[in-house]
Amino acid sequence: MNCPPRSGKSGPAFALAALLLSAVAAFLFGGTRAAFAEATAAKGSRTTVVVSPELSVSIADGDEVVLSARPLPGEGVDSFVQRVTESAKAKREIFAQSAGTRLLRKDAFVSVPYRLLSENYRKIAMEALFPEDRADARGWNHRVTGLAGKPESLWRIAEWFTGDGANYRDIRIAGEIRSLQTEKGQTVRIPAALLSPAFRGEVEAAAAAPPPPLEFRKDEKGRYAVYRLQRGEALYSAVVVRFTGRLHAEDVNAKAAEIAERSGILDVHAIPVGFPVKIPVDDLAAEFRPRDDPARVAEEKSRLEVAQFVNRVRAADLSGVTFVLDAGHGGRDTGALVEGVEEARYVYDLACRVERLLARNTRARVVMTVRPDAPCVGRNAPPGDFRTAKVMTTPPYPLEDATTGVNFRWYLANSVLKNVEKHGGSEEKTVFVSIHTDSLHPAVRGAMVYIPGEKFLRGSFGKSGEIYAARREVREAPQVSFSRKERVRAEGVSRDLAEKIVATFRNAGLPLHEFAPVRRNVIRGGREWVPAILRYNRIPARVLLEVCNLNNPEDRKLLVTRSYREKVARSLVAALVEFYGGEGKDMLSASAKEDRPQS
Ligand SMILES: [Zn+2]
Repeated sequence: MNCPPRSGKSGPAFALAALLLSAVAAFLFGGTRAAFAEATAAKGSRTTVVVSPELSVSIADGDEVVLSARPLPGEGVDSFVQRVTESAKAKREIFAQSAGTRLLRKDAFVSVPYRLLSENYRKIAMEALFPEDRADARGWNHRVTGLAGKPESLWRIAEWFTGDGANYRDIRIAGEIRSLQTEKGQTVRIPAALLSPAFRGEVEAAAAAPPPPLEFRKDEKGRYAVYRLQRGEALYSAVVVRFTGRLHAEDVNAKAAEIAERSGILDVHAIPVGFPVKIPVDDLAAEFRPRDDPARVAEEKSRLEVAQFVNRVRAADLSGVTFVLDAGHGGRDTGALVEGVEEARYVYDLACRVERLLARNTRARVVMTVRPDAPCVGRNAPPGDFRTAKVMTTPPYPLEDATTGVNFRWYLANSVLKNVEKHGGSEEKTVFVSIHTDSLHPAVRGAMVYIPGEKFLRGSFGKSGEIYAARREVREAPQVSFSRKERVRAEGVSRDLAEKIVATFRNAGLPLHEFAPVRRNVIRGGREWVPAILRYNRIPARVLLEVCNLNNPEDRKLLVTRSYREKVARSLVAALVEFYGGEGKDMLSASAKEDRPQS
């Protein structure tokens, strides 16, 4: 990506019953306010945690867990219940219990007992009620809280996290737990092998990337975290990039200088192993802040709300899938240019490889946003022409100006989506990927995937003027804005897709950004935003893939090899196949066989 910059608590506690509380929350979060905060209420032995205006979780006497939810604006009741339970049987039971009447009203809350919830919603419910629970490499660690009046039993814990209360015996044996009676504050570990899939996934993730040890302290300059440098670690990558989320050279260097000064480091290139580096809490990315920090609380709530949406449509051979493939630059817009390596040349070559693989191995329909006059060259030829590239609007737009080009790309994507049914497709079977290579601090390397962060998608946007009015795609829908449901769902399904891409890249041994390969916004020059190509794009599953960092010499050396680009293309196609429930492995093994050094 080489584009100029463009254009978030914890609430009070209310002593109200669950439904009333939700109504209060809906009032509080209505309108244009940031849609996230938490309210916890305890009346008698019932505790309710509000996740969002449409979702809360309660625990009552006997440790009964109930999810209370209503459809998001713009969502039908039927598809809402299907989303929460993922089972036709559960759906019938809920409709029967609710006597059908309340369900006809879209703003009414529906109560769903824990046992009827889908795996995904069980995890959301547990994380909402027990934010102190943590996965590590060995299992899920549940902290006994006694939210419903008395400490939750081993039976209940087994039921919640493994799906079967009888597993309490194995949990007891594995943890050498002496007493059947649990106590408030006790940590019960549920071994990975017993966990339901959703919780086990967290254990696998924690095993792959254990959280870093940060200690929090305070001095006259304010609160800070202490990180002790490990052998071989540098201040730029191990501290600034990792903990502050900054990536661009000027941002990383400036922050490194500030942190060095604060920590009493005289020479940033000669920091002893174990040296305590002081990072101001305000500079930390939300996920690294103390547990009670408002930014972290808001971030975790947002994650829970977004986690409600993953792709559930299956199409293993990608039949009916429309793949809008955007080579991020072309024409006069060369993108990043480092040591003679032009971003536009290689991202167009990558798009051609992806198109070819999809045509040969799947039934997907591919729509390229950009095409030069000459067709794609073969997989063993050097990258073809990109200088004559045009955005394929009606009529096409010769890529004279990068920003105008970006606008036509998303107008075109929106038009493809609007007309997708005419081509046998559907919204849920439409995916957008914009391919780029980045120009970041040289210490950063590997692939990163940007997704549209929900909170950055508010407002309405459109372009006017002759050049825009001349294109059919603009006239079709000149203005873009999103409902709350569209924003939340877009972040959820896009994250799902992004995680599939990261997983296939990892399996293929392709370099990935070391710390946070999936990001929901750009951070640069003290500002945060979602790139325009995602910001105004209406295709729900949409990502911007930064294949590598052109400023990193190793990444640059890889990008110019055909074998690497072919592997990236295969991994991206494999991710798409996995996103729609297929097996991407075949695609990757074909890549491994052909992985002899070329060019
Ligand atoms: Zn780019």
